[in-house]
Amino acid sequence: MRLLIVEDEAKLLNIVERGLRSEGFAVDGAATVKAADACLRCVHYDLVILDLLLPDGSGATLLRQIRERDRSVPVLVLTARGDIESKTETFQAGADDYLTKPFSVAELVLRVQALLRRGPAVQESVLRIADLELNRITRQVRRAGKRIELSPKAYALLEYLFLHVGRTLSRSMIIEKVWDQSFEGLTNIVDVYVGNLRRKIDEGHESKLIRTVRGVGYRLDAGDEQ
Ligand code: CA
Repeated sequence: MRLLIVEDEAKLLNIVERGLRSEGFAVDGAATVKAADACLRCVHYDLVILDLLLPDGSGATLLRQIRERDRSVPVLVLTARGDIESKTETFQAGADDYLTKPFSVAELVLRVQALLRRGPAVQESVLRIADLELNRITRQVRRAGKRIELSPKAYALLEYLFLHVGRTLSRSMIIEKVWDQSFEGLTNIVDVYVGNLRRKIDEGHESKLIRTVRGVGYRLDAGDEQ
């Protein structure tokens, strides 16, 4: 899941970015409306976190622009004002949720996870394929009833494969959604993570669920192997 956070307070931006990354999210930060607009034009984000007061314009105007382009992306607004007029205005501009500053990063993470679960593509909280199960509320993974411990990044990768079950995902698609702009270097990072995931998910099981599509990428699939 790749998120954009638009916030001009560098310290707050940094804390929120770190909090979300530690949960396995890919996070891009923008400090101005202009920078946010540039990010939104080149990446299809799964969720946007938006501060309302930005140095070069209003977050509410940016929110209206986001809604004109994309009706479905969840937007969580950060606001310093908790009065009902400002909340009404925020929702009317197209926000899905809001947090009043100061807020706890733990609460922000919970709200982000809840918004992403009720996103447009998938309604179910528990995703299943064959005997593999991923619970998006408890963030637990089980195969044949047995709990599998995954790092937040490995969980994010598996969740991404799950949300596109049966579809082959290229390495660059996976990088775009599971990693972020802070990611540099290792071009084989996807292969390394998929390799680790495969050891945890498929090793010791007759049916292999993580498939390599040579020259293309990977997919999660329970059908006959080709
Ligand atoms: Ca601000």
